[in-house]
Amino acid sequence: MEFFALDRDNVKSPYAAQLSRGFAGLRFSRLLEKEFREHYTEQNLPRARLSMAIPLVLLWAVAGLEVTVGLSPLGSLVDRRWLAILVPLMTAVLIAMYLPSAARRYTWIAAVGVTVVGFATTFLCHTAALNGASYVLAAEALVVLYACLFLGLLFYVAVAVGTMLVAAHVGIGLAVGLPAEPMWYTTAILGAAAVAATISAYKQEHAVRTNFLETRVLHELAERDGMTGLYNRRIFDDYAKRIWRQSRREGERLEIVLVDIDYFKVYNDLYGHQAGDDTLRRVADTIARGAKRPFDFTARYGGEEFVLILYGPPEEYARALPEQIRRDVMDLAIAHEGSPVASVVTVSVGVALADERSGRSLAGAIQVADEALYQAKQEGRNRVVYKTTDDDEVQTGNFRVPRRRLA
Ligand code: GH3
Ligand code: MG
Ligand code: MG
Repeated sequence: MEFFALDRDNVKSPYAAQLSRGFAGLRFSRLLEKEFREHYTEQNLPRARLSMAIPLVLLWAVAGLEVTVGLSPLGSLVDRRWLAILVPLMTAVLIAMYLPSAARRYTWIAAVGVTVVGFATTFLCHTAALNGASYVLAAEALVVLYACLFLGLLFYVAVAVGTMLVAAHVGIGLAVGLPAEPMWYTTAILGAAAVAATISAYKQEHAVRTNFLETRVLHELAERDGMTGLYNRRIFDDYAKRIWRQSRREGERLEIVLVDIDYFKVYNDLYGHQAGDDTLRRVADTIARGAKRPFDFTARYGGEEFVLILYGPPEEYARALPEQIRRDVMDLAIAHEGSPVASVVTVSVGVALADERSGRSLAGAIQVADEALYQAKQEGRNRVVYKTTDDDEVQTGNFRVPRRRLA
């Protein structure tokens, strides 16, 4: 299925609502949160893989030097067992991050991976420090910064990892009997690094979330008609083409419904443009509410004209909906003293039922709907005219630009 993601709640954007509510706790409403997490994973995975791969390559290089030429770039006092622990560990985490099945959970894999790597580093640094190489302890700060800032962990995960690494530093330090002075000095430095890194992780995630919402709001604005909140003409054209192809492929019929307000120019002249705008909005709402099924598509076709596309509508729905919309608009009971057909605002509706076997094109089917609308106007307005794409009078070979569009 290649449907658009149809937002049936035509006017209210969940993204805009979330933006104005704010999200200081770094959490969206349930549905948005799910969408955000997927987006976040997709965005961060390549960066996280790279962040995991770069230190690993460095480690491999160091290990290579150790094993082949016996060179020890990190100093002779550093216990060489660290290579045997860290290299396979990080390689396993990196491989896990490349497995498609694991990619979705990469933040957890990365978090667990970096914590274990952090524990191992802490242990090795402490033993090195006991052997007189206390400067090695600085490496722990690097691991904390790396874990919180480079792996693309969510803020709360980064806080948990940072806390665990600082706790590991203290716990392992006490266990191996690190002297008090280097112990507390390095703890203070490590703690400060962890705080700075997590503050930065908060700001980073907040910015990513803001960007996520704003991008979607902008997309929606570009797709919507500013006045009615319905999809605009551009989106209609795009959607119609797709859904048309799909309906031909899957042997479903399409119903195209054009709705045009009667004597709207007179209405504007009589009640003013502002009242005209309000009425347009109310009619648009009524039409959007009428089209209830998930794949019913509603758009503003232009001016005071609207279009609906119904995909594979059941016979009864296909018949009833246009008539229902006509009645619902009348039931709004918006006074229209200038209308010769009723005392309230009414609409005329032209319907084209495009059978899946019909040889017509999309443009041809829209033309049929347009002609049905024209006929509804001719026959007195405030009515629905149905045509199928097989109707004789419209099977005229070359189709022309509809009369009403020439104005
Ligand atoms: P008919 O019954 O034949 O449809 O007559 P009509 O007056 O509705 O049709 P016509 O196409 O002559 O005029 C449409 C009018 O709709 C002209 C314009 O003033 C009004 N209109 C179009 N867009 C808007 C809008 O965004 N706001 C307002 N207030 N009026 C609009
Ligand atoms: Mg009109
Ligand atoms: Mg019109």
